[in-house]
Amino acid sequence: GTRDQRWEMRVRTVGGRRIVHLLDRTGSYTSERIRVDFVANASHELRTPLAVLLGYVETLADEAGDDPATRKRFLKIMFDEAKRMQRLIEDLISLSRIEADKYRAPDQSVDLAALARDVCGELSAGGGERAQDLRLELSEIPPVRGDRAQLSQLLHNIVGNAMKYGREGTPVTVTLAPESDAMVRLTVSDEGEGIPPEHIPRLTERFYRVDSGRSRAMGGTGLGLAIVKHIVERHRGRLDISSTVGKGTTMRVLLPVHTVIKA
Ligand code: ADP
Repeated sequence: GTRDQRWEMRVRTVGGRRIVHLLDRTGSYTSERIRVDFVANASHELRTPLAVLLGYVETLADEAGDDPATRKRFLKIMFDEAKRMQRLIEDLISLSRIEADKYRAPDQSVDLAALARDVCGELSAGGGERAQDLRLELSEIPPVRGDRAQLSQLLHNIVGNAMKYGREGTPVTVTLAPESDAMVRLTVSDEGEGIPPEHIPRLTERFYRVDSGRSRAMGGTGLGLAIVKHIVERHRGRLDISSTVGKGTTMRVLLPVHTVIKA
Protein backbone atom coordinates (compact mmCIF):
# COMPACT_ATOMS: atom_id res chain seq x y z
CA GLY A 1 0.00 0.00 0.00
CA THR A 2 0.89 3.65 -0.05
CA ARG A 3 0.15 4.44 3.58
CA ASP A 4 2.81 6.37 5.44
CA GLN A 5 4.86 4.33 7.89
CA ARG A 6 5.50 6.02 11.24
CA TRP A 7 8.23 4.71 13.49
CA GLU A 8 9.16 5.67 17.01
CA MET A 9 12.72 5.07 18.15
CA ARG A 10 13.55 4.19 21.77
CA VAL A 11 17.10 3.80 23.02
CA ARG A 12 18.05 1.92 26.18
CA THR A 13 21.44 1.19 27.66
CA VAL A 14 21.89 -2.27 29.16
CA GLY A 15 25.28 -3.22 30.64
CA GLY A 16 27.05 -0.52 28.63
CA ARG A 17 25.43 -1.58 25.36
CA ARG A 18 22.96 0.59 23.53
CA ILE A 19 19.79 -1.16 22.39
CA VAL A 20 17.60 0.55 19.83
CA HIS A 21 13.94 -0.34 19.64
CA LEU A 22 11.89 0.62 16.62
CA LEU A 23 8.18 0.73 17.35
CA ASP A 24 5.61 0.78 14.56
CA ARG A 25 3.26 3.68 15.33
CA THR A 26 1.58 3.70 11.93
CA GLY A 27 -1.80 2.66 13.34
CA SER A 28 -2.23 5.43 15.89
CA TYR A 29 -0.83 7.98 13.46
CA THR A 30 -3.46 6.96 10.89
CA SER A 31 -6.40 7.20 13.30
CA GLU A 32 -5.18 10.60 14.45
CA ARG A 33 -5.05 11.77 10.87
CA ILE A 34 -8.55 10.44 10.16
CA ARG A 35 -9.83 12.43 13.16
CA VAL A 36 -8.12 15.63 12.02
CA ASP A 37 -9.43 15.19 8.45
CA PHE A 38 -12.92 14.58 9.81
CA VAL A 39 -13.01 17.85 11.74
CA ALA A 40 -11.64 19.71 8.71
CA ASN A 41 -14.20 18.11 6.36
CA ALA A 42 -17.13 18.70 8.70
CA SER A 43 -16.19 22.35 9.12
CA HIS A 44 -15.87 22.76 5.38
CA GLU A 45 -19.24 21.08 4.74
CA LEU A 46 -20.88 23.51 7.15
CA ARG A 47 -19.04 26.58 5.95
CA THR A 48 -20.27 26.27 2.36
CA PRO A 49 -24.04 26.49 3.00
CA LEU A 50 -23.44 29.09 5.70
CA ALA A 51 -21.59 31.33 3.21
CA VAL A 52 -24.46 30.98 0.72
CA LEU A 53 -26.97 31.79 3.43
CA LEU A 54 -25.09 34.91 4.55
CA GLY A 55 -24.71 36.07 0.96
CA TYR A 56 -28.47 35.95 0.45
CA VAL A 57 -29.19 37.64 3.77
CA GLU A 58 -26.96 40.55 2.72
CA THR A 59 -28.52 40.80 -0.71
CA LEU A 60 -32.04 40.74 0.75
CA ALA A 61 -31.12 43.47 3.23
CA ASP A 62 -30.14 45.58 0.21
CA GLU A 63 -32.35 46.58 -2.71
CA ALA A 64 -33.20 42.99 -3.79
CA GLY A 65 -35.52 42.69 -0.77
CA ASP A 66 -37.93 45.22 -2.29
CA ASP A 67 -39.09 42.98 -5.12
CA PRO A 68 -41.59 40.37 -3.83
CA ALA A 69 -40.75 37.75 -6.50
CA THR A 70 -37.01 38.00 -5.82
CA ARG A 71 -37.60 37.90 -2.09
CA LYS A 72 -39.62 34.72 -2.41
CA ARG A 73 -36.99 33.05 -4.59
CA PHE A 74 -34.18 34.03 -2.21
CA LEU A 75 -36.06 32.84 0.86
CA LYS A 76 -36.54 29.42 -0.76
CA ILE A 77 -32.78 29.14 -1.39
CA MET A 78 -32.03 30.25 2.18
CA PHE A 79 -34.47 27.69 3.57
CA ASP A 80 -32.85 24.90 1.53
CA GLU A 81 -29.35 25.85 2.70
CA ALA A 82 -30.46 26.01 6.34
CA LYS A 83 -32.08 22.56 5.92
CA ARG A 84 -28.85 21.20 4.50
CA MET A 85 -26.96 22.44 7.57
CA GLN A 86 -29.60 20.92 9.84
CA ARG A 87 -29.33 17.51 8.13
CA LEU A 88 -25.56 17.62 8.42
CA ILE A 89 -25.63 18.49 12.11
CA GLU A 90 -28.19 15.76 12.80
CA ASP A 91 -26.02 13.19 11.02
CA LEU A 92 -22.93 14.35 12.94
CA ILE A 93 -24.82 13.97 16.23
CA SER A 94 -26.04 10.47 15.23
CA LEU A 95 -22.54 9.41 14.32
CA SER A 96 -21.05 10.54 17.62
CA ARG A 97 -23.89 8.91 19.62
CA ILE A 98 -23.43 5.60 17.84
CA GLU A 99 -19.69 5.78 18.45
CA ALA A 100 -20.24 6.56 22.12
CA ASP A 101 -22.47 3.43 22.37
CA LYS A 102 -19.86 1.26 20.69
CA TYR A 103 -19.02 -0.83 23.76
CA ARG A 104 -22.61 -1.31 24.92
CA ALA A 105 -24.11 -4.28 23.12
CA PRO A 106 -27.64 -3.56 21.84
CA ASP A 107 -30.16 -5.90 23.51
CA GLN A 108 -33.69 -5.17 22.30
CA SER A 109 -35.69 -7.83 20.52
CA VAL A 110 -36.51 -6.11 17.23
CA ASP A 111 -39.15 -7.07 14.67
CA LEU A 112 -37.19 -6.07 11.57
CA ALA A 113 -40.11 -6.78 9.22
CA ALA A 114 -42.36 -4.31 11.05
CA LEU A 115 -39.54 -1.77 11.04
CA ALA A 116 -38.97 -2.25 7.30
CA ARG A 117 -42.70 -1.77 6.64
CA ASP A 118 -42.70 1.50 8.61
CA VAL A 119 -39.57 2.88 6.98
CA CYS A 120 -40.71 1.96 3.46
CA GLY A 121 -44.08 3.58 4.18
CA GLU A 122 -42.44 6.81 5.36
CA LEU A 123 -40.02 6.93 2.44
CA SER A 124 -42.63 6.33 -0.23
CA ALA A 125 -44.94 8.91 1.35
CA GLY A 126 -42.29 11.62 1.71
CA GLY A 127 -40.39 10.82 -1.48
CA GLY A 128 -41.59 13.87 -3.40
CA GLU A 129 -41.23 13.90 -7.15
CA ARG A 130 -39.18 10.70 -7.45
CA ALA A 131 -41.85 8.05 -7.39
CA GLN A 132 -39.87 4.85 -7.03
CA ASP A 133 -41.68 1.59 -6.90
CA LEU A 134 -40.74 0.14 -3.49
CA ARG A 135 -41.18 -3.62 -3.21
CA LEU A 136 -41.04 -5.36 0.12
CA GLU A 137 -40.39 -9.12 0.08
CA LEU A 138 -40.71 -10.64 3.52
CA SER A 139 -40.07 -14.23 4.58
CA GLU A 140 -40.68 -15.52 8.07
CA ILE A 141 -37.76 -14.26 10.18
CA PRO A 142 -37.01 -14.41 13.91
CA PRO A 143 -36.54 -11.20 15.92
CA VAL A 144 -33.14 -9.55 15.68
CA ARG A 145 -31.03 -8.51 18.68
CA GLY A 146 -30.51 -4.82 18.30
CA ASP A 147 -31.25 -1.20 18.95
CA ARG A 148 -34.61 -0.36 17.34
CA ALA A 149 -33.88 3.33 16.68
CA GLN A 150 -30.50 2.57 15.12
CA LEU A 151 -31.89 -0.23 12.93
CA SER A 152 -34.60 2.14 11.74
CA GLN A 153 -31.90 4.66 10.81
CA LEU A 154 -29.93 1.94 9.00
CA LEU A 155 -33.01 1.04 6.93
CA HIS A 156 -33.72 4.72 6.24
CA ASN A 157 -30.20 5.36 4.96
CA ILE A 158 -29.90 2.26 2.78
CA VAL A 159 -33.42 2.31 1.30
CA GLY A 160 -33.20 6.10 0.95
CA ASN A 161 -29.97 5.76 -1.06
CA ALA A 162 -31.50 3.10 -3.32
CA MET A 163 -34.36 5.53 -4.05
CA LYS A 164 -32.03 8.51 -4.51
CA TYR A 165 -29.55 6.76 -6.78
CA GLY A 166 -31.97 4.34 -8.46
CA ARG A 167 -33.34 5.04 -11.90
CA GLU A 168 -36.72 6.72 -12.16
CA GLY A 169 -39.44 4.21 -12.97
CA THR A 170 -37.44 1.14 -11.88
CA PRO A 171 -38.17 -0.75 -8.66
CA VAL A 172 -36.28 -0.77 -5.37
CA THR A 173 -36.54 -4.17 -3.72
CA VAL A 174 -36.20 -4.71 0.02
CA THR A 175 -35.90 -8.35 1.07
CA LEU A 176 -35.76 -9.94 4.52
CA ALA A 177 -34.90 -13.62 4.89
CA PRO A 178 -33.10 -15.97 7.26
CA GLU A 179 -29.40 -16.32 6.41
CA SER A 180 -28.65 -19.07 8.95
CA ASP A 181 -29.88 -20.11 12.42
CA ALA A 182 -27.97 -17.19 13.87
CA MET A 183 -28.33 -14.45 11.26
CA VAL A 184 -31.03 -12.57 9.38
CA ARG A 185 -30.34 -11.10 5.95
CA LEU A 186 -31.55 -7.73 4.69
CA THR A 187 -30.98 -6.90 1.02
CA VAL A 188 -31.82 -3.65 -0.73
CA SER A 189 -31.44 -3.60 -4.52
CA ASP A 190 -31.88 -0.82 -7.02
CA GLU A 191 -31.57 -0.62 -10.79
CA GLY A 192 -29.66 2.65 -10.87
CA GLU A 193 -26.41 3.44 -12.60
CA GLY A 194 -24.30 1.44 -10.17
CA ILE A 195 -20.94 2.20 -8.59
CA PRO A 196 -17.53 1.70 -10.26
CA PRO A 197 -15.65 -1.01 -8.32
CA GLU A 198 -12.72 1.19 -7.22
CA HIS A 199 -15.11 3.33 -5.15
CA ILE A 200 -16.85 0.51 -3.30
CA PRO A 201 -14.28 -0.03 -0.50
CA ARG A 202 -14.38 3.69 0.36
CA LEU A 203 -18.16 4.33 0.43
CA THR A 204 -18.45 3.97 4.20
CA GLU A 205 -15.81 6.65 4.86
CA ARG A 206 -17.22 9.90 6.21
CA PHE A 207 -17.96 12.39 3.44
CA TYR A 208 -16.84 10.02 0.67
CA ARG A 209 -19.01 10.46 -2.42
CA VAL A 210 -18.71 9.03 -5.91
CA ASP A 211 -20.25 12.15 -7.48
CA SER A 212 -20.37 15.01 -5.02
CA GLY A 213 -22.49 17.24 -7.27
CA ARG A 214 -25.12 14.53 -7.58
CA SER A 215 -25.05 13.74 -3.85
CA ARG A 216 -25.52 17.40 -2.89
CA ALA A 217 -28.28 17.88 -5.47
CA MET A 218 -30.09 14.94 -3.88
CA GLY A 219 -29.66 16.49 -0.43
CA GLY A 220 -27.03 13.98 0.70
CA THR A 221 -24.66 14.68 3.60
CA GLY A 222 -22.06 12.07 2.68
CA LEU A 223 -22.46 10.52 6.14
CA GLY A 224 -25.28 8.02 5.52
CA LEU A 225 -23.15 4.95 4.87
CA ALA A 226 -20.62 5.88 7.58
CA ILE A 227 -23.55 5.79 10.00
CA VAL A 228 -24.69 2.44 8.55
CA LYS A 229 -21.21 0.97 8.99
CA HIS A 230 -21.05 2.03 12.65
CA ILE A 231 -24.52 0.62 13.35
CA VAL A 232 -23.62 -2.69 11.70
CA GLU A 233 -20.39 -2.91 13.73
CA ARG A 234 -22.16 -2.18 16.98
CA HIS A 235 -24.63 -4.98 16.16
CA ARG A 236 -21.83 -7.38 15.27
CA GLY A 237 -23.33 -7.72 11.84
CA ARG A 238 -21.89 -7.54 8.34
CA LEU A 239 -22.29 -5.14 5.43
CA ASP A 240 -21.63 -6.12 1.82
CA ILE A 241 -21.93 -3.79 -1.13
CA SER A 242 -22.05 -5.18 -4.65
CA SER A 243 -22.72 -3.19 -7.76
CA THR A 244 -22.60 -3.43 -11.53
CA VAL A 245 -22.17 -0.22 -13.50
CA GLY A 246 -25.22 0.32 -15.69
CA LYS A 247 -27.25 -2.34 -13.85
CA GLY A 248 -27.62 -1.33 -10.22
CA THR A 249 -26.52 -1.79 -6.65
CA THR A 250 -27.28 -4.30 -3.90
CA MET A 251 -26.56 -3.63 -0.23
CA ARG A 252 -26.67 -6.68 1.99
CA VAL A 253 -26.71 -6.55 5.79
CA LEU A 254 -26.49 -9.56 8.11
CA LEU A 255 -27.78 -9.11 11.65
CA PRO A 256 -27.72 -11.52 14.60
CA VAL A 257 -30.90 -13.23 15.73
CA HIS A 258 -32.18 -12.48 19.25
CA THR A 259 -31.65 -15.76 21.06
CA VAL A 260 -33.31 -16.47 24.35
CA ILE A 261 -30.97 -18.37 26.62
CA LYS A 262 -32.88 -21.20 28.30
CA ALA A 263 -31.93 -22.21 31.83
P1 ADP B 1 -24.83 10.62 0.49
O1 ADP B 1 -25.42 11.51 1.52
O2 ADP B 1 -23.90 11.33 -0.45
O3 ADP B 1 -25.86 9.80 -0.23
P2 ADP B 1 -23.86 8.15 1.71
O4 ADP B 1 -22.82 7.97 2.76
O5 ADP B 1 -25.23 7.67 2.01
O6 ADP B 1 -23.84 9.68 1.34
O7 ADP B 1 -23.33 7.44 0.40
C1 ADP B 1 -22.01 7.72 -0.05
C2 ADP B 1 -21.94 7.67 -1.57
O8 ADP B 1 -22.16 6.32 -2.02
C3 ADP B 1 -23.00 8.50 -2.29
O9 ADP B 1 -22.59 9.84 -2.44
C4 ADP B 1 -23.11 7.78 -3.62
O10 ADP B 1 -22.09 8.24 -4.48
C5 ADP B 1 -22.82 6.33 -3.29
N1 ADP B 1 -24.03 5.49 -3.17
C6 ADP B 1 -24.65 5.11 -2.03
N2 ADP B 1 -25.71 4.31 -2.29
C7 ADP B 1 -25.75 4.17 -3.63
C8 ADP B 1 -26.61 3.45 -4.54
N3 ADP B 1 -27.65 2.72 -4.10
N4 ADP B 1 -26.33 3.54 -5.87
C9 ADP B 1 -25.29 4.28 -6.32
N5 ADP B 1 -24.45 4.97 -5.52
C10 ADP B 1 -24.68 4.92 -4.20
